[in-house]
Amino acid sequence: MKTLIKNISSLIGILPPDVKCKRGEEMSLVESLENAWLLIEGDHIDSFGTGGCPPSDKVIDAAGGMVMPSFCDSHTHIVYAGSREGEFLDKINGLSYEEIARRGGGILNSSDLLKSTDEDELFAQALGRLDEVLAKGTGALEIKSGYGLSTEGEIKSLRVIKRLKESRSAVIKSTFLGAHAVGRGYCKSDYVRLVCEEMMPLAEGLADFVDVFCDEGFFTPEDTAAILESGARHGLRPKIHANELAVSGGVQVGVRFDAVSVDHLERTGQAEIEALLESRTMPVMLPGASFFLGMPYGKAKDFIAAGLPVALASDYNPGSSPSGDMRFVMALGCIKMRLTPAQAFNAVTINGACAMDAADVAGSITPGKKANLLITRPGVTLTGIPYNYTTPVVALKLLGGRILQ
Ligand SMILES: [Zn+2]
Repeated sequence: MKTLIKNISSLIGILPPDVKCKRGEEMSLVESLENAWLLIEGDHIDSFGTGGCPPSDKVIDAAGGMVMPSFCDSHTHIVYAGSREGEFLDKINGLSYEEIARRGGGILNSSDLLKSTDEDELFAQALGRLDEVLAKGTGALEIKSGYGLSTEGEIKSLRVIKRLKESRSAVIKSTFLGAHAVGRGYCKSDYVRLVCEEMMPLAEGLADFVDVFCDEGFFTPEDTAAILESGARHGLRPKIHANELAVSGGVQVGVRFDAVSVDHLERTGQAEIEALLESRTMPVMLPGASFFLGMPYGKAKDFIAAGLPVALASDYNPGSSPSGDMRFVMALGCIKMRLTPAQAFNAVTINGACAMDAADVAGSITPGKKANLLITRPGVTLTGIPYNYTTPVVALKLLGGRILQ
């Protein structure tokens, strides 16, 4: 089955297959083709060009809109039970962290709720969030466990992610985040041992990556190294949380273990930039969490000026970023982090794909990649996407070459 998209004003985000990410000055360029067509064969991009259109079985008229790759969100926590709306009100009313926890807020209470929620119900709630982000234009995403905080709860969460992968044609990667916090009733050293010795062998085969919350008050670089060593024995590359609350040493330990990405990075300096320059690890920043919590934003411009790549992701989770809207993430990248629209575009497409080791199938207009695409309304420009940041700009979303209804 061949589907032709015709009357494309601008086909943006074109890359050759060997380009897996954009770094430094490359991030300021978005390769495009004007007055173009694009041909889809089955579920992948076949070819594109200008002039006479090739034969096809079906035609989609872009009517002068742009065509771009769907967003690639490399950091989400959408498998959780219930919501933390009560905690939102408590925060507005100025309650302390301890008071919020006593009233049922915080990660340990999320883990209690996950424990009492059966797997089918947890799947149904997570599928609702997945469909929400696909409708917002995401075509590839990473999903973490991390609200189980027990062997049973973590493996239940990973099984739910496996079912999500099988349910939709988005590109989905799975990350085992048993070390999101210390599970209720454990001392930290016992819990790290549980993650390494009991959970990790079960996570193998279900997860693509292993993650650790390496930050002040959570897991130290030494704890993190022990967990990443265990992950390596079970074939899981790291993607870790680092430098959100303090200069934690998380970036360095991530680089030492050849992490696919190190994420958050609100608190970094020259030492973190230098460590990353020696690596193939993608720095990922999460401006939605900075926005929601009123924290500093990552210094993306400094990273790019140093020649590094940067990806932006949503961090969709109930406590610190209850939104998976990647267009809003792109807008925050421009408005709060002073990225140009071109830099922000590359950060939420090809670099996002790279940050979850999915750049071979997602993140650009490249023959052979999955046809997960957005067709904008006529007259929309790249700059207009983050500028008119609440105006609907997308006319059609394609997942695996099919129109998402
Ligand atoms: Zn996170």
